[in-house]
Amino acid sequence: MRWQISFIALLLFINCTLSFAKRGMLKIKMLDVGHGDAIVIKLPNNKTMLIDTAKKDKAKKRVIAYLLNKNISKIDYLVLSHNHKDHIGGAPAIIKKFKVKEVWGNGSELDTPYVAALKEAIRKKGTKVVKFNRSKQFTIGGVKVDVLNLGKVFKEENDNSLVIKFTYNRFSMLFAGDLEFTGQRRAYKKFKSELKSDVLKLPHHGVGRYDTKFLKATSAKFALISASKKDIDGAKDIIEKLEDLNITVKNTDVDGNISVETDGDDFLVN
Ligand SMILES: [Zn+2]
Repeated sequence: MRWQISFIALLLFINCTLSFAKRGMLKIKMLDVGHGDAIVIKLPNNKTMLIDTAKKDKAKKRVIAYLLNKNISKIDYLVLSHNHKDHIGGAPAIIKKFKVKEVWGNGSELDTPYVAALKEAIRKKGTKVVKFNRSKQFTIGGVKVDVLNLGKVFKEENDNSLVIKFTYNRFSMLFAGDLEFTGQRRAYKKFKSELKSDVLKLPHHGVGRYDTKFLKATSAKFALISASKKDIDGAKDIIEKLEDLNITVKNTDVDGNISVETDGDDFLVN
């Protein structure tokens, strides 16, 4: 009987160890693209997500160069947080060069030459487009993805940014696009505790006014800022505010590419 119990315990132990070993790494790399965003994500199931593409010139120099260097030829999910050139400017070149399986958009009807170029690239390649006009939750490779829709169309396109939260076991990260004060306040009112994350991709490059309620609601341990030198020079107040909230700040202008890696239990930012 005792042997039998020990055997069962051993089986359980092996099973737990295997399931732990089976949980792959989630790797997030915020590229240094000056004023703009480009975040390459390797999901635990080895699928690739790219959140935003930076401006056209930076996409060629930094984003495409990085992807090629990593031997990435396929982008499973190209997420375009909103339709400003520092986020979608490089998208046509990326759609042209890589096998892009899906493009995610915020569904806004902004009409600019950048949007027209993007639409044309999508049309030429016949790429599938998914528009998020409402909140949605799903799981990819063990990562719970929450697309948090603010439930309103704002005049300011920044406030229409797709807000995405990743939860991977005990780790979480919030990608807040370029939400400005109005969008941040709306997100705080609508989602409150759902904003809670270990790492915050700070919205809007450290530029402009920030909502303390929104920042507090994230209870983030780290805030990552994708920004140019000019943005960072003007971001003294927000950096001070984040540090007062005990949030460790990293920015691409000083730190270069910033990586976040996690097995779902511990995480490392550097
Ligand atoms: Zn931006």
